[in-house]
Amino acid sequence: MSDTPDVAARRTYETAEGGLYALAQSAEVKPPALKTVPVPPPLDPATDEWGDAPLYEARRKIYPQRVHGTYRRIKWAALFVTLGIYYFTPFLRWDRGPNAPDQAVLIDLPNSRFYFFFIEIWPQEVYYLTGLLIIAAMTLFLMNAIAGRIWCGYLCPQTVWTDLFQTIERWCEGDRREHMQRERGPWTPERVARAGAKYFLWLMVAWWTGGAWVLYFADAPTLVYELATLQAPLIAYAWIGILTLTTFTLAGFMREQVCLYMCPWPRIQAALTDEYALNVTYRYDRGEPRTSVKKATALRAQGQPVGDCVECLQCVHVCPTGVDIRQGPSLGCIQCGLCIDACDAVMAKIGRPPRLIAYDTDINVKRHAEGLPAEFRFARVRTLLYVAIIAGVACIMTYTLVTRQAQGISVLHDRNPIFVRLSDGALRNAYTVRVSNKRSDRREFTLSLSGLPGSLLDIVQTRDDGRFVIEVGPDQTREVRVLITDYVPDPPASTPITFHLYDVISGERAAASDYFRAPAGG
Ligand code: SF4
Ligand code: SF4
Repeated sequence: MSDTPDVAARRTYETAEGGLYALAQSAEVKPPALKTVPVPPPLDPATDEWGDAPLYEARRKIYPQRVHGTYRRIKWAALFVTLGIYYFTPFLRWDRGPNAPDQAVLIDLPNSRFYFFFIEIWPQEVYYLTGLLIIAAMTLFLMNAIAGRIWCGYLCPQTVWTDLFQTIERWCEGDRREHMQRERGPWTPERVARAGAKYFLWLMVAWWTGGAWVLYFADAPTLVYELATLQAPLIAYAWIGILTLTTFTLAGFMREQVCLYMCPWPRIQAALTDEYALNVTYRYDRGEPRTSVKKATALRAQGQPVGDCVECLQCVHVCPTGVDIRQGPSLGCIQCGLCIDACDAVMAKIGRPPRLIAYDTDINVKRHAEGLPAEFRFARVRTLLYVAIIAGVACIMTYTLVTRQAQGISVLHDRNPIFVRLSDGALRNAYTVRVSNKRSDRREFTLSLSGLPGSLLDIVQTRDDGRFVIEVGPDQTREVRVLITDYVPDPPASTPITFHLYDVISGERAAASDYFRAPAGG
């Protein structure tokens, strides 16, 4: 049987000049015994417990080592893009006309508006938010079905800020080994200065994070000026303080514990994944039996089986959550790919093929072990379903946005009394009608009624200047009292009616339905 490409590649490395084979030729070392990989105690069927393994493990402080490589570069790009969006979006401008704010993204709580570039969401249009949440959830599920916890590894705010804080820590305290050595030593002036610089920079980032958050809720340049001159509302300082504290604590100290103990997504994600999803995976078939470079060389020279893993622990040292990916899938693995970079660098140094650790699927782990080529299946029922839902909701939202009316009407029938009988025998119902003007200029509307022929519609408070119009200011709503009088004798107890709203200049319209009530049996 011919070799699979993978097996063939390994044979090439093992027989080529250079690499481990050449090293083995020149090495005069005796074949050592293979190192035994520690195996966790077996599950005791009587007690349903994992042997003597403790249920609680105290936190080990993690000192992630600096690493270079493809996935580190992707993480840098994700960090700069996501933080850039977060910190600078409030300063983007978007012209909406003279009577509307010109901040591109603004949550205007006092006026109950959300502005997102050309979109303006009113409170009654909160279904757009629902649509956005559905799309966000389905996108997360889709990412998970294709590439596991890619969100956790690259885009989650906890990951991004922790990454930034760890980078600052390395600037100030040195890389892993230096930092660990210094922490084992006494408190010298240098150590105090380095720790002080780190905490100061962390605090600045945390403060800027809290400061950027409040800028989404008010005109950013104005609020920055007010904050600097201590004229901003107290609530703005309070929120900056809260977010500074949470960012400082979560990204500076809690770090991977947020992912391990606080975040529900790893648990949900584990239930949503399948054997075709890409995950950061250690290639057991290639890596085992693992041993040191020197021993591996001697063993290979004797033709004994030996894996590519040289037990250097680089993959563990660079891991921001302290996971040893060689132990198999773990809740702590955020799948950032940094262990891939670390291991690739080791493989390059010892002349072995890269990707001993790689993004791969469970199905391929089995296929590799059987000597079969890797197989990837991205178009599956679940991925197609997620795409269909995302596309469907996006289409509905786009349609409603494109056909969205710039005016609106809602009607509330008086409950007490539901109707009154006038002295001339006519019946009157009263309503509160709310008219919305979603444009940035003042508009005039008029009302008409259908469904109750011969009745009289009367708008209270709008006839002072003799005109029968409802004037509504820019981007505002107005409530008016409307009286409908029906002169028909013995009308039915409930008659469906429709209020029609017209813009007196443009003719644009909106409508709302309700009922005209009368006493049962006339
Ligand atoms: S970095 Fe690679 S070679 Fe080193 S311990 Fe991890 S898996 Fe083994
Ligand atoms: S095991 Fe690898 S992929 Fe998982 S969190 Fe650690 S470095 Fe990232």
